[in-house]
Amino acid sequence: MNEAGPPAGDFLSELRATLGDKGVVVEAGDMEPFLREWRGRFTDLKARCVALPHSSAQVAAVVKLCAKHRVPIVPQGGNTSLVASGVPFGGGDELILSLARMNRIRAVDPLNHTITVEAGCVLQTVQEAAAKVDRLFPLSLGAEGTCQIGGNLSTNAGGVNVLRYGNAREQVLGLEVVLPDGRVWDGLRALRKDNTGYDLKHLFIGAEGTLGIITAAVLKLYPLPRDVHTAFVALRDPAAAIELLARARGASGDRCTSFELIPRLTVDLVLRHVPGTTDPLDAPHDWYALIELSGPDADGDTGAVLESLLERAFEDGLVVDATIAQSAAQAAALWRIRETVSEGEAAAGASLKHDVAVPVSQVPAFIAAATPEIETALPGVRVMAFGHVGDGNVHFNLIQPEGMDRQAFYAEWPRLSTLVHDRVTAMSGSISAEHGIGHLKRDALPHYKSAVELDLMRTLKAALDPAGLMNPGKVL
Ligand code: ZN
Repeated sequence: MNEAGPPAGDFLSELRATLGDKGVVVEAGDMEPFLREWRGRFTDLKARCVALPHSSAQVAAVVKLCAKHRVPIVPQGGNTSLVASGVPFGGGDELILSLARMNRIRAVDPLNHTITVEAGCVLQTVQEAAAKVDRLFPLSLGAEGTCQIGGNLSTNAGGVNVLRYGNAREQVLGLEVVLPDGRVWDGLRALRKDNTGYDLKHLFIGAEGTLGIITAAVLKLYPLPRDVHTAFVALRDPAAAIELLARARGASGDRCTSFELIPRLTVDLVLRHVPGTTDPLDAPHDWYALIELSGPDADGDTGAVLESLLERAFEDGLVVDATIAQSAAQAAALWRIRETVSEGEAAAGASLKHDVAVPVSQVPAFIAAATPEIETALPGVRVMAFGHVGDGNVHFNLIQPEGMDRQAFYAEWPRLSTLVHDRVTAMSGSISAEHGIGHLKRDALPHYKSAVELDLMRTLKAALDPAGLMNPGKVL
């Protein structure tokens, strides 16, 4: 408990008076789901209580109360962070502020191509609300049935459509944010052009709740593509993937919406461990790409573009085999291989995940350099380099050697991660492409960010949150 503040009893009774009994969770069993860390790397986490406000005014009231009693706040969305960003590490001192009850769609404006949503809306709900008015909300990722849009924005989430539409940051026109002092910043503007000084919304997007709490957002919508074609392609090597990607963008007028690199090891694990999956091609190959082109009209030429692209790439030796989905069900079966990678991985044992980015053109060189380094450092380790190669984002995951003790493998994390992150940094890359920093990568950040960048970040943190109560111990 924080000895500087008034007694906890006062705080809790004031909190209950603010939110009602339904809005405050204190019983250990009821708090358990909020204290569960998605990847299972951290256990035995504790919180003072969970607050469940249902309006921005209530969020502001809770934040004010926490400021008065000096109670640290951990904002939480769907709690699917891959870097332990939304759970507390303060030994029971912190309040978890869950946005789950703030789940209303406030407005949809199809002609402005915007939707205004509250932070607790589940990502899939936002996608469905957009589709209902014949529009696309393009952010799409594995956890979309559980994760919340507020968390997606706070962590600047990526996913499988970034190649064409950009990451979460690029989907935002306006924000509503509760500041660390309890004031509400209403920046819910639905404007494509607004050059009136600092673009403050970008302070809070990707800040992982360390500068304030995003409570609502105006998001961009796009025309709904009706001519979507999906191919599963065996490649000569990763360099062929990059060449094919460039050709796909050119041939389709930049209608390439996904381009995912998948190595054979990944396909093997999925086929072995995930029920109902089948090998899309007759013979095994070392490298694959899952490619999606999306055109506007149902009777458009996108399918023909994809076919001739692959034919030419086959003649030129980039592609060694391929299958194009002939129905939505076939496309879903191809996507299922990509979407169940984590499941296959988890069944294969403990894994150390790296979410790194290099310039797209450098992906083959990165994989070629980092893979043997890691294999030499820990013989028997299984390197799984897959992911959103269209964005230069490689999920460079290491699966434990067969038979190795799980904890002994985790103990190798600092040594192996340093190798991977040093290699990425030497190639002017990033140690976190789309997962954020959170608790997991916080201690690595100072080694890989410049002193100037860190100083600017700390200056902003101190200016907005001088008491250091917002998601303490995350990012910085
Ligand atoms: Zn990803």
